[in-house]
Amino acid sequence: MTVSGRPFIPVAKPLVGEEEKRAVLEVLESGQLAQGSRTAAFEEAFAAYVGASHAIAVNSGTAALIVAMQAHGIGPGDEVITTPFSFIASATSIIACGATPVFADIDPYDLNLDPEKAEAAITPRTKAVMPVHLFGHPARVEEFTDLCEEYGLALIEDACQAHGAEHQGRRVGTYGTGCFSFYPTKNMTTGEGGVITTNDDQVAARCRIIRNHGQERRYLHEHFGLNWRMTDLAAAIGTVQLGHLEAWNETRIANAEALAGLIRVAETPRVREGDRHVFHQFTIRVARDRDRLLKALEEAGVGSAVHYPIPIHHQPIMRQLGHGDFSLPFAEAAAEAVLSLPVHPSLQPEDVEYIAATVNRLVESRA
Ligand SMILES: *Cc1c(COP(=O)(O)O)cnc(C)c1O
Repeated sequence: MTVSGRPFIPVAKPLVGEEEKRAVLEVLESGQLAQGSRTAAFEEAFAAYVGASHAIAVNSGTAALIVAMQAHGIGPGDEVITTPFSFIASATSIIACGATPVFADIDPYDLNLDPEKAEAAITPRTKAVMPVHLFGHPARVEEFTDLCEEYGLALIEDACQAHGAEHQGRRVGTYGTGCFSFYPTKNMTTGEGGVITTNDDQVAARCRIIRNHGQERRYLHEHFGLNWRMTDLAAAIGTVQLGHLEAWNETRIANAEALAGLIRVAETPRVREGDRHVFHQFTIRVARDRDRLLKALEEAGVGSAVHYPIPIHHQPIMRQLGHGDFSLPFAEAAAEAVLSLPVHPSLQPEDVEYIAATVNRLVESRA
């Protein structure tokens, strides 16, 4: 579709090329399709990239969260404190472990889980805290590390949107047990896929057992596990993608800086001093009529999306399960104001200018 002669700019665009095609063909010809040597090589490369001692590949980001929590012994009767302002999998993964999600409100500065609100939600049943590095901006993960040490809790980092993000000079996914997703729209993809990163040898060993039917030796099942394995096809794609990730992240950051410099009519994303935001999303906050702006942008040829229109605690399934009968005002306000604009590495400089000019024009013409 074209609008006034220019191609529509999608809000996200996975980048897959000849290298990925060749890598997949090679795996198909090798006959080793399930988890094998290419998965091991991808794990080693991803661990080195993040700066963690171990990486355990699985078949989605959701799987990474479930396996990570199970490796920490989280199950029925346990509570995990997390943010209400994220993709639903941050919370449903907790429920899948038989545990209870406890929502604490966000910090309106960066829309991430507020460490003080999280601390206030700790009970004798709390087993873990799960901050989400939302949109690629690190949560205050050093404070969460201290909090978890003080109370003897596990720190699960939902880094599904934050491949390569850094807090105080250290990559996310190395503070606690890191969980990443390789869904097509993430900063890198394997089709579907995920990975767990950790510096804890024991947690890593448990993750490896849990992802493979709970067996350490073939057909001896001493633990509860399921099939969470990655295929070698996915791992081969991942190894190629990982080679591009830094260049893509740098382009995202440059696009975000350009957009932030040009957009006058809405609040642009904040980056905390000392952090590296990798802009999985470039999410602005608009004062009013967000949904009308989204429609007008679409008509002008600019894709945008609302991440997320309903806070998790107010999703019908969460209310149904008894996790939603309360108010978390900052998360609820964010859900009404946010709008994500294209920031992906395929944008040309003229696209960035057009996106910003269109946002400015549409908001100003309504004023
Ligand atoms: C994408 C995402 C997940 C889930 O990852 P999948 O690979 O889609 O299962 C979990 N949490 C957050 C914050 C995400 O963005």
